[in-house]
Amino acid sequence: MDLGLPGERYPARRAFRQWLVEHPDPTPHQLADAGYVAPHWPRPWGLGADPVDQLVIDDEMRRAGVRRPSNQIGIGWAGPTLIHAGTEAQKERYLRPLLAAEEIWCQLFSEPGAGSDLAGLSTRAERDGEEWVVSGQKVWTSFAHVASFGILLARTDPDAPKHKGISYFVCPMDAPGITIRPIVDMTGDHVFNEVFLDEVRLGPDLLVGEVNNGWSLAKVTLGNERVSLSAEGALWGQGPTAQDLVALVRRAGGISDRLLRQRLVAVWVEGEILRLMRLRTVSAAVLGREPGPEASVRKALADDHGQSVMEVAKDLSGAHGLIDTGPFESLVAARASTPSPTVDDGTPLWPSALWSYGYLFARALTIGGGTAEVQRDIIAERVLALPSS
Ligand SMILES: Cc1cc2nc3c(=O)[nH]c(=O)nc-3n(C[C@H](O)[C@H](O)[C@H](O)COP(=O)(O)OP(=O)(O)OC[C@H]3O[C@@H](n4cnc5c(N)ncnc54)[C@H](O)[C@@H]3O)c2cc1C
Repeated sequence: MDLGLPGERYPARRAFRQWLVEHPDPTPHQLADAGYVAPHWPRPWGLGADPVDQLVIDDEMRRAGVRRPSNQIGIGWAGPTLIHAGTEAQKERYLRPLLAAEEIWCQLFSEPGAGSDLAGLSTRAERDGEEWVVSGQKVWTSFAHVASFGILLARTDPDAPKHKGISYFVCPMDAPGITIRPIVDMTGDHVFNEVFLDEVRLGPDLLVGEVNNGWSLAKVTLGNERVSLSAEGALWGQGPTAQDLVALVRRAGGISDRLLRQRLVAVWVEGEILRLMRLRTVSAAVLGREPGPEASVRKALADDHGQSVMEVAKDLSGAHGLIDTGPFESLVAARASTPSPTVDDGTPLWPSALWSYGYLFARALTIGGGTAEVQRDIIAERVLALPSS
């Protein structure tokens, strides 16, 4: 079986290269308008690309150093849910600015008393005439402080069984009654927030799908979240891959420590398995199938893998690995610079900020987007058909 990508003459490859000649330094809007931000989305937002086209376009973008606009929650999981269940007016209003990262999105799901057991959420949305009045508290809301909109789950029928009385809304983050408080994580970075909703009024046009049918849409969002969070790259698609690590070590002339070599090979093998599994999830997504339990299988493996890559990287750095040079700002600077790795002569293999940040952040991989234990429960019940716990 040939698992390589089609070569130079493949139409999607040539089309992208030609487009790049016409748009040598593409802006987020140009990428969004051309359908290159989410090629597998239906037209006019994407290109309706099949799995091979999608992967070829990804490959071409990587080679050309073209970065997609950054709006992880918007593009990764709010967008697909709006395509699945939004009205035409909602798609028209939200999708293009979302793709161009002109409007950043956040996810108002988790609450202090509802994380893994998300359906136990207690934020209420009560009807007042045409409008909904929302009160409650959300937590761990990544990017709330920079977001224009949030996808919000709220209880609209407290008397219904817990999975039945939830509705799904778009919440403007500048609505009166919203208070956002920062949470600084152990990397020193501020991504998370607490969000308090105090009688926030939402119009009927902000409801997505049917009243009390929000749980089925939450499942669409969470499925896409698992796919998105298990993208290429050890830190939920950001940061380096095991292949990048091997390339750095190779450029540095190799490693003499046999144990470290074995660990490096082990993470490389895992990385390859995950890459091949990704082809499956991408194919399912572009063939229009909602992500299924295989997304949980891949996420469960990818999260442990991400932690292993960062641990090997840290251990390869030797004593330098103990030095922490700071939070996210340093990471951005480190990414922009070209690492000049060396190993056996004692100089750092790569900018320690990147790996220090990655090593600390990797703890989050087995919590966010569904914990390692919950992913395994899903696999046990839906893949292995074991009785529920
Ligand atoms: C980096 C990061 C970003 C995040 N961003 C967002 C965001 O933008 N928006 C948002 O809404 N949320 C976000 N979250 C929150 C995330 O979804 C929750 O942390 C996650 O769902 C777990 O919920 P919890 O923290 O309440 O832990 P709990 O659910 O309280 O779990 C505590 C422990 O109990 C275990 N456990 C719970 N239930 C079971 C079970 N049934 N079987 C076995 N073990 C179980 C868990 O595995 C865990 O070890 C983010 C989290 C992280 C780490």
